[in-house]
Amino acid sequence: MEQYAHVINGKRHEANEYFDVVNPSTGGLAGRAPAGGSKEIDHAVTSAKEAFKSWSKTSDEDRKAACLKIADIIEEHAEELAHLITREQGKPLSGAGSRFEIGGTLAWIRHTSNLSLPVEVLQDGPEGRIEVHRKPIGVVASITPWNWPVMIASWHFLPAIRTGNTVVLKPSPLTPLSTLRVAELANQVLPAGVLNVVTGLDHIGPHLTSHADVSKITFTGSTVTGKKVMQSSVDTLKRLTLELGGNDAGIVLPDVDPKEVAEKLLWAAYNNNGQTCACLKRLYVHDDIYDAICEEMVKVAKNIKVGDGLDEDNVLGPVQNEQQYRKVIELVEDARDNGGRVLIGGEPLEGPGFFYPVTLVADVTDGMRLVDEEQFGPATPIIRYNDIDEVITRANASDMGLGGSIWSADVAKARELALRLECGSVWVNNHGAIQPNAPFGGIKQSGFGVEFAEEGLREFTLGQTLFC
Ligand code: NAD
Repeated sequence: MEQYAHVINGKRHEANEYFDVVNPSTGGLAGRAPAGGSKEIDHAVTSAKEAFKSWSKTSDEDRKAACLKIADIIEEHAEELAHLITREQGKPLSGAGSRFEIGGTLAWIRHTSNLSLPVEVLQDGPEGRIEVHRKPIGVVASITPWNWPVMIASWHFLPAIRTGNTVVLKPSPLTPLSTLRVAELANQVLPAGVLNVVTGLDHIGPHLTSHADVSKITFTGSTVTGKKVMQSSVDTLKRLTLELGGNDAGIVLPDVDPKEVAEKLLWAAYNNNGQTCACLKRLYVHDDIYDAICEEMVKVAKNIKVGDGLDEDNVLGPVQNEQQYRKVIELVEDARDNGGRVLIGGEPLEGPGFFYPVTLVADVTDGMRLVDEEQFGPATPIIRYNDIDEVITRANASDMGLGGSIWSADVAKARELALRLECGSVWVNNHGAIQPNAPFGGIKQSGFGVEFAEEGLREFTLGQTLFC
């Protein structure tokens, strides 16, 4: 079984201890990752701090060229990386799985590499000239989750290094291998110390996020952990981007054709097997078409093949880890105990691995755990409503505010309603679609700050206003 190494100061660093990374399809080993601690974090931060001295002064053109080269190298290793993601994360190679994740990574890296933040001239006249310059911040700590290990890592490190910062990245201990490999590849073109990756169990996170030499943290993960990260950053007033949990509502108006929207609704909820921050997690359907939507979604769900992602026929893989798998089982049980009607699925699948079928639960209401909590897995509550104003209030009652959607044949009306949803992104007749040229981020307890586009790039810089 292959053992991986930390990537610190441009080199592979073997460890004294390793931890197992489980393949969620088989329960077997996907690989062994180095179990780092404070010593490795300190080494990585010191290397990043040293590298910042020259990388922050490297020309914009040279940094852009290096970032674009990283995309080329990842592309050359696309199949290797896709297989590695499938082994440790579980998502299938095909469909919207690991090859798609590599494709997305390349699109984001290339788009972001080509962005720039030129000097802004606010005033230029007899009263003087005012310019705003964007400068890199310093050492950026990046902490990533397990759902899109390579793509989210690239969303963190690429804009950071593009703007002249240096990075210490700590991936989720559940999916560290593909991130380590990407860092090895990126280090073929980056100067030593610009991008470091240290792996270890959750407990090493606070050492990184409270480190005095870290100036900015970019964190993607749960709201619970995000709050801890925020607390640990206080002493040195680190800059923060927090991309946290979501419990996105989708509201279906009575004027849609159930046959037409059923498949789109289903995939809005089942992107990455429900393990995506901006999946549709609460589906509100008008009473007039409630039964028809349920029926059509069940028809689509029946044909979805769930299984080991290395088998090209499968379109959904397992739940990524045991804790999440248990949570999905528990939430569905709770809904059933409280009167929820399981339309399809609802029982874990036989065999090794954390397989759970596509599960649709009708006759559920707000106040039930499956509706109120982020399930982050393959179980969707379908909730009946009658009044549009009332359902908007219910959708907005959540503490979360990541995304939301309105589904209607009347696009003008849907736009108007979408803008009443309290969340960072809203979609009409779609849910969860993101692009590298459109800012993305949460409000309320889904976090703050944005990623992507110029606005996302700016988060990795400090403004300096020059009056002259
Ligand atoms: P998690 O919060 O358990 O872990 C995220 C990362 O934080 C991991 O690397 C983990 O090791 C690290 N960590 C754990 N404790 C820490 C601590 N005290 N200090 C610093 N780091 C610590 O989240 P997860 O289960 O890996 O990911 C799922 C969650 O992420 C879901 O809630 C999902 O909605 C959210 N998410 C949000 C976005 C977004 O863009 N808003 C994107 C993807 C996932």
